[in-house]
Amino acid sequence: MSRVNFHTHTSRCKHAYGKDEEYVISAIENQYKILGFSDHSCWKYNTGFVSGMRMRLNEFDGYKNSILSLKEKYKDYIEIRFGMEAEYFPKYMEWMLDFCIKEDIDYLILGNHYNKSDELGCYYGHCSYNRINDYFEDCIKGMETGMYAYLAHPELILRSHRWDENIEIGFHRICQKAKELDIPLEYNVLGLQMNMRMNKEMYPHKKFWKIASFYHNKAIIGMDAHQPRDLDAELYDLAFYHLSKYDVEIVKDIPKIDYQKIKKNFNKK
Ligand SMILES: [Zn+2]
Ligand SMILES: [Zn+2]
Repeated sequence: MSRVNFHTHTSRCKHAYGKDEEYVISAIENQYKILGFSDHSCWKYNTGFVSGMRMRLNEFDGYKNSILSLKEKYKDYIEIRFGMEAEYFPKYMEWMLDFCIKEDIDYLILGNHYNKSDELGCYYGHCSYNRINDYFEDCIKGMETGMYAYLAHPELILRSHRWDENIEIGFHRICQKAKELDIPLEYNVLGLQMNMRMNKEMYPHKKFWKIASFYHNKAIIGMDAHQPRDLDAELYDLAFYHLSKYDVEIVKDIPKIDYQKIKKNFNKK
């Protein structure tokens, strides 16, 4: 089994554990070919807000230096990519685009955790029912920017609400849009671990993947590692086994995103 993972956190987000190098060693031990780091992104807030779940802006240089030096050090053993997991925050997207260009970021993944910004605090993993439409809108608008290599844990809203007709309609919209834009959807393995531990089904959710099968979406396994042992090969293979049952195209790589090109189109708008 050739393994790849583009969803890896570091301790800078304050809820992941271990040294950066320990994630790399774990990935090599578990025979990954590619390891992409995608810690929860920094943002340049207009307010003095300090988020408790992501790196601060002044921690970014340390993150970059660490990942790029590990990339060099282990280049004979594993390919390392340099990314971030970011939300879609409309008022800060132009800043993020410039930042991705300036810092030569390989890719972002869309982790749609908050509406508008986390300064206001509507977390989609724990939100009221009247926010579900915002959740689907943000997923779609985010994907439309072209800035994200894939949509992480597309069923995050199931942490807040049980499956119903409105949620099903929203998932159809997500899958249809992802298909149209050729963006993979993530089969999230941290969620799979949680489902198994709690004996519940939040995400990944079978009904969601049936919808993705209907649209023949591209799918990608994301370990969402918050500690080095989350890169466990058996877990990866279990996820691959589950995902293989659906009529989706499992992809094992993502392209480097051309943020310069996006910027040119951004200015035309
Ligand atoms: Zn996290
Ligand atoms: Zn994540």
